[in-house]
Amino acid sequence: MNGQKVFITNGWDCDLAIVVCKTGNSPRMHHNLSIIVIEEGTPGFIKAKKMEKMGRHAEGTGELVFEDCRVPQRNLLGEEGKGFYYMMEKLQQERLIAALGSLTAAEKMFEEGLEYAKTRKAFGQPIGKFQHNSFKLAEMATEIEIARCFVHELVSEHVAGKDIVNKVSMAKWWVSEMANRVAYDSLQLHGGYGYMEEYPISRHYQNVRVDTIFAGTTEIMKSIIAKNLGL
Ligand SMILES: Cc1cc2nc3c(=O)[nH]c(=O)nc-3n(C[C@H](O)[C@H](O)[C@H](O)COP(=O)(O)OP(=O)(O)OC[C@H]3O[C@@H](n4cnc5c(N)ncnc54)[C@H](O)[C@@H]3O)c2cc1C
Repeated sequence: MNGQKVFITNGWDCDLAIVVCKTGNSPRMHHNLSIIVIEEGTPGFIKAKKMEKMGRHAEGTGELVFEDCRVPQRNLLGEEGKGFYYMMEKLQQERLIAALGSLTAAEKMFEEGLEYAKTRKAFGQPIGKFQHNSFKLAEMATEIEIARCFVHELVSEHVAGKDIVNKVSMAKWWVSEMANRVAYDSLQLHGGYGYMEEYPISRHYQNVRVDTIFAGTTEIMKSIIAKNLGL
């Protein structure tokens, strides 16, 4: 096996890599992919770099390199040439998990903003009493509730075995963008303390930024939806 891949979540810490690789030469490209598992320590399997990120420091995101890495046939996962189909089958689940992650992040950041708005006083009153701030919190609460209803419905449909590819693409982009709006507004409510690492909102703000990027970017999600609209 030869090749490399950047941005692998937990790639730096893994002891087993599940690799999608080209194993055939069919003119139909999606018939050429297979999934192969590779144990750490296999000659030619190199953890090239631990990547420096703006957030999510608990995950060792890595760049993995394969240089003339020989792998026994028994490491083939599933059937040869079916890798593309296996991935397509699981992408729906990955995007649903991503939407759930963004939702729970938004809930937590909202709670922190609300708590701060009730306790921090300026000009003789809690900052949450200023109409602008109370409206911001009302907007956050509303968007989170809408997201919760949508995501919970998708979880039920997914568990029931329904095809939710289109709707999960909607959830992935909208909930992750919503979580970033909540991050911005909740940090703003914290004032200068929001910018300090010791306040959790500062860390959440950094962590949630990638939600609109990984597991399929907002733009790619919109492309899927547009395609399903016949565009
Ligand atoms: C912290 C982190 C963890 C990750 N973990 C993993 C992992 O575990 N496994 C894994 O395989 N990948 C992982 N990724 C990779 C991630 O999925 C990609 O970074 C992401 O899909 C975007 O691809 P790219 O970086 O190549 O951006 P590009 O494809 O170069 O896109 C750059 C910009 O152009 C836009 N763009 C690209 N194509 C189009 C288009 N057709 N129409 C409109 N706009 C377009 C994108 O939306 C984006 O805004 C991770 C990334 C990060 C940052």
